[in-house]
Amino acid sequence: MGKASRDKRDIYYRKAKEEGWRARSAFKLLQIDEEFNIFEGVKRVVDLCAAPGSWSQVLSRKLYLPAKLSPDSRESNPPLIVAVDLQPMAPIEGVIQVQGDITNARTAEVVIRHFDGCKADLVVCDGAPDVTGLHDMDEFVQSQLILAGLTIVTHILRKGGKFIAKIFRGKDTSLLYCQLKLFFPKVTFAKPKSSRNSSIEAFAVCEDYSPPEGFSEKDLYRLLKEVGSPSGADNLDCSSAWLEGPNKVYIPFLACGDLSGYDSDRSYPLPQVAEGTYKSLDPVQPPIAPPYKRALELKKAANQGIRELGNLSIDSS
Ligand code: SAM
Repeated sequence: MGKASRDKRDIYYRKAKEEGWRARSAFKLLQIDEEFNIFEGVKRVVDLCAAPGSWSQVLSRKLYLPAKLSPDSRESNPPLIVAVDLQPMAPIEGVIQVQGDITNARTAEVVIRHFDGCKADLVVCDGAPDVTGLHDMDEFVQSQLILAGLTIVTHILRKGGKFIAKIFRGKDTSLLYCQLKLFFPKVTFAKPKSSRNSSIEAFAVCEDYSPPEGFSEKDLYRLLKEVGSPSGADNLDCSSAWLEGPNKVYIPFLACGDLSGYDSDRSYPLPQVAEGTYKSLDPVQPPIAPPYKRALELKKAANQGIRELGNLSIDSS
């Protein structure tokens, strides 16, 4: 699909370029904020799985830049933003980058070091594995990534803090909901307007971090397993009985973002200044070392080889 036809079929892709966002995902975080006011009072925030960086840009524009530009910025320190990803990303003002794996426990230590031992007010995680197309498999791998995010959360989020995480809707959604409810009294699954209906993604908005009494981080996986086990964890307010048969919990999904605004499943006409003069913008900042870079290089080399072979046979004919 060419850039211009993608501009037409994907309004958020076009708007992202016009507004200087590195990815259309920026709108998802902005729309979640419209509904849940997630940035209020936030001084320390962690962006897990941040590359190419559009969520970090949102954090920088919403938190860091206004504080830096405010008249009393000399008295108060601007908010701290730490972004973590396996991939490197181009710099963003006010964002500290950590290249690391969120499934590795050491990553939490590195993040905390940047906060001088203090805890975060907000953790966001837009992590996604490489999708295989096998729905159950993708949902499982995604839920493992969320649990890795939750592990980091139990180390670095302050009590009362918020956690926003991408989830994949599927048969285990209610289990995940109950697992998150162990730590957050308020969990809402939200579907921002900029996330296509055809996409299985949604976002868990978890508020007021309150780990169970006497919780120790090393108990996390045992607790999470209890939620899903047939014996259940009767002392938990979201027991396994809720997950099965007539008691099964059906989790509501909340649509967020201006519902009369742009619809991500619709095509919109391109703004034509004069017939045929539309010029598609380049992406704001392509990933600097994406995992598919080697594949692109190989494809380019192969295409070049075919072209050279073609020239050779023309010359020799
Ligand atoms: N929120 C980003 C933005 O707005 O630009 C987009 C995130 S992208 C959908 C998913 C990211 O998850 C990828 O950059 C990938 O490298 C990262 N990721 C996947 N598994 C990870 C892991 N185990 N540790 C750190 N990052 C991971």
